[in-house]
Amino acid sequence: MTLSFIILQTAILSAQPDRWQQRVKYTMNIDMNVQTNRFTGKQKLEYWNNSPDTLTRLFYHLYFNAFQPGSMMDEKSRRQGAVNGPGGRPDWDQRVRDRILNLKPDEIGYQKILSLKMNGRPQQYKVLETILEVKLDKPVLPKSKVQLDMDFEAQVPLQIRRSGRDNPTSKVRYSMTQWYPKLCEYDYEGWHPTPYVGREFYGVWGDFDVSISIDKNYIIGGTGYLQNPNQIGYGYDSAPSMPIIPSGKFKTWHFYAENVHDFAWTADPEFIHKSKKVRNDLTLHLLYKPTNASAASWEKVLTDAEKALPFIEKTFGPYPYKQYSFIHGGDGGMEYPMATLCIGPGAWLHEWLHSWYYGLLGTNESLYGWMDEGFTTYAEDRTDAFLNGNTGFAYDGTYRGYFSLAKSGKEEPLSTHADHYNLNSSYGPAVYSKGAVFMEQLGYIVGAPVRDKILLEYYYQWRYKHPNANDFIRVAEKVSDMKLDWYKEYWINSIKTIDYAIDSLWEEGGNTKVRLKRIGLMPMPIDLQLTFKDGTKELHYIPLDLMYGEKPVEETEIPRKVYDAWKWTHSTYTIETSRKLTDFTLVEIDPSMRLADIERKNNRLELKW
Ligand SMILES: [Zn+2]
Repeated sequence: MTLSFIILQTAILSAQPDRWQQRVKYTMNIDMNVQTNRFTGKQKLEYWNNSPDTLTRLFYHLYFNAFQPGSMMDEKSRRQGAVNGPGGRPDWDQRVRDRILNLKPDEIGYQKILSLKMNGRPQQYKVLETILEVKLDKPVLPKSKVQLDMDFEAQVPLQIRRSGRDNPTSKVRYSMTQWYPKLCEYDYEGWHPTPYVGREFYGVWGDFDVSISIDKNYIIGGTGYLQNPNQIGYGYDSAPSMPIIPSGKFKTWHFYAENVHDFAWTADPEFIHKSKKVRNDLTLHLLYKPTNASAASWEKVLTDAEKALPFIEKTFGPYPYKQYSFIHGGDGGMEYPMATLCIGPGAWLHEWLHSWYYGLLGTNESLYGWMDEGFTTYAEDRTDAFLNGNTGFAYDGTYRGYFSLAKSGKEEPLSTHADHYNLNSSYGPAVYSKGAVFMEQLGYIVGAPVRDKILLEYYYQWRYKHPNANDFIRVAEKVSDMKLDWYKEYWINSIKTIDYAIDSLWEEGGNTKVRLKRIGLMPMPIDLQLTFKDGTKELHYIPLDLMYGEKPVEETEIPRKVYDAWKWTHSTYTIETSRKLTDFTLVEIDPSMRLADIERKNNRLELKW
């Protein structure tokens, strides 16, 4: 009795999820040849099977193999170009188009496996384009560890998408992302051997010890802490002591990163490297070339980042690593642990915020792209408003993105696997805009201060893990003390939309009644604000029955009246005030604009007497 009581107490108090996770440690030695754009690699991979399952196969990603004519990525891209997107235009990803088809043999990418051993024994494997399937001679037992030794060689593709060399715009030589054979993640849903068609990522948490030997004139930036700065120089060494550079044509850069799920790097002989210590245990690095943006605009990134950091950490949780690098890369903007590669300085904020929603909260982006791109876009809008002192609605553009998607007739539910959206043009606004609206609209449902507590609680409970949609909702439910599963079901798993309207007003027994109507199929709680001739206002709040709770007062100046919950099956609801109808000047559903009501014209009624 006593014992079970204690166990129960512990279970409730420690909200830490107990989901098992696999673990990796990569040790890689890379020899890069900048004349042939090829490199060889020795990879030692220690793999901890923390699952309760016996593994008879392993899977790796071989991303570079996507950059070959006729690959799945090539086929998908060319097919999208043939499909009509918005305005009848082809539904291309402009960066890919039909460019893979036209790669010459010395421009394609590849990763070739030369040998693979598990605990010293050679293993049978099959290359399935971007996936390597390994049939193990002996299974990996639950709660055991194996060592995998691989020799491989690779050719860096001409820059098409994310990875590659020699982008004509940025003129950066090497954007080394998705560049090594990377173990697929095995989780409670099993293996995730997702063929690479150009979209999202998912990796195993672990440590990376990476040594890269390259022409001594090349400057590298990337994931991890440089272990031998005094043999490297280039601004990494602790001045004023002169670095001791080993003689010879090559330098070996030795990096170490702990508790990350990927490793990226970039190299160019003309990088300008600047760094800024923004607090005792955090240095920001900047590596850029003034090719397609000015030096001043690149260097502003470091000062803006320093200014934003306290706000970001207070709102989204502490940044735990000792380093972050903003690096000029070959394509758009892309996030990696402790680093981003951006083609220009404009994307720095979004990509940096991915350190939270990607880097630390490593959701399976293929399945929950909205928790990655959407939450990052939300954080970007919010931090951008802070940096620029904006006072308006920070998410206006994001909401507009969602509204045009919802009205396009081509929306697909956010629960769609990222690779399997029918259209490029509906994937973007779905995961970025509708995903960001999810978070701001959650503030409408539970109240902004409660939503902010949820953000931090989510961070503390799920960092260094792989939270899914339900994990987020459970945190939100516990913090708000409301049921929110309905919000996930409608917003994520369906494309049902919100549309409420002011139906009618009339006087009855000296009071005024206002009838509201639900037109859209998705139910929501309602904030209704009444404004009167004398300038006073009233807030009438109707919770939704499915919430089993009500949000705390957000606006303290305006008196609030709370009603019984609106039952989701009912299409109308009538509220009442003691004011005369002729006192009214304005009736308005959600003046905060956080409710993503797709038809806002019927949300506002001005009265003139
Ligand atoms: Zn992003």
